[in-house]
Amino acid sequence: MQKSEVLFTRAQKTIPGGVNSPVRAFKAVGGTPRFITKADGPYMWDADGKQYIDYVQSWGPMVLGHNNPQIRQAVIDASEFGLSFGAPTEAEIIMAETVSKLVPSMEMVRMVNSGTEATMSAIRLSRGYTGRNKIVKFEGCYHGHADSLLVKAGSGALTMGVPSSPGVPANVAEHTLTVEYNNIDSVKEVFNAHGNDIACIIVEPVAGNMNCIPPVEGFLEGLREVCDEYGSLLIFDEVMTGFRVSRGGAQERYGITPDLTCLGKVIGGGMPVGCFGGRRDILTHIAPTGPVYQAGTLSGNPVAMAAGLAAMQQIQEEGLYEGIFENTQALADGMQALANKHGIKLSTNVAGSMFGIFFTDIERVTNYQQAINCNTEQFNKFYHGMLEQGVYLAPASYEAGFVSKAHDKDIIAKTLEAADKVFAMLK
Ligand code: PMP
Repeated sequence: MQKSEVLFTRAQKTIPGGVNSPVRAFKAVGGTPRFITKADGPYMWDADGKQYIDYVQSWGPMVLGHNNPQIRQAVIDASEFGLSFGAPTEAEIIMAETVSKLVPSMEMVRMVNSGTEATMSAIRLSRGYTGRNKIVKFEGCYHGHADSLLVKAGSGALTMGVPSSPGVPANVAEHTLTVEYNNIDSVKEVFNAHGNDIACIIVEPVAGNMNCIPPVEGFLEGLREVCDEYGSLLIFDEVMTGFRVSRGGAQERYGITPDLTCLGKVIGGGMPVGCFGGRRDILTHIAPTGPVYQAGTLSGNPVAMAAGLAAMQQIQEEGLYEGIFENTQALADGMQALANKHGIKLSTNVAGSMFGIFFTDIERVTNYQQAINCNTEQFNKFYHGMLEQGVYLAPASYEAGFVSKAHDKDIIAKTLEAADKVFAMLK
């Protein structure tokens, strides 16, 4: 680990905390973040040459595994023709048509450069479209770092939101109402009090930022009903779940149609891309057809579009998702069986190719409070044990794990062998 240590010390001199996104700093689990030099298929290698089986997969987008040859070639080919034009290209049309075909509720699509931009823009659009200011989000869901979304609940569900970060004005946060995930009654209560002022509900249809928490039966259906009753828009933030929990995202998996959808990194095959889209009558409200302003110099970047299209083409392969889901379930079931064997209290959640492991005796974790009450100390020990064994999990107990096409049965078996050794050490 010597090189990672040297790099981390050097990084901290010119980069705040040594990283360009906080969770990478290993603050939650302690220790030195591994500086990565390359990745391929299910693997990543650090600066000291150690190989890891990677279950972060760039925080989700690598459905096909790292360094996919077709995506790489598409990037090389596109870059021969120039890196950015700031003018429309045919690739953007093909991308919008492809997204719209795979996620039919996205009748129109606007490209952006990150998940944060997608959710921020969708919120502005929903406010502009409805003429209302308030928005509803859920405790434990993360939607990027736009001001309106960096908000936590006040002292009760019906109180105004308070900023969860300095720098967010209180009078921005007060328009964000935060309620409990998987609790439709808390949503109804807040709509009873403020329904006619609520522009939208934004939700991760499978929560992936408080570990992995799928929706309980009736929750997403309930959100749809409440929105219809009050004329509010339902936004699915599918930055993690899009093309992951099903080819058509969570909306296909659970059969609920949102008004707007946000997609992120996954549609860029690893390049910095995102998009938002949805009902045609809503999308026509953005500039230049409508009054709601939204823009981006690099949006629809030709190299990023080429990478994304190469990814989109491959995820349409017959049987792809069934195989990945089977391996994800085998990984979670294997972990559970090993924990039971070693007398470790563990609970697992799975949604398609996303999984979560919780060190708790709660049989099924369904909300934020349960997720944060898990045994963090035990997770941190497990984390470092697995890292030592060559398995790279997300460096915090509140993050979901991701399985790709490249994680075949052999890779799952190797991961479980490592887990067996680490659970034995935890006893
Ligand atoms: N929404 C969700 C559900 C996310 O998980 C994330 C980031 N992981 C974002 C939005 C923000 O995306 P980005 O980091 O690309 O801005």
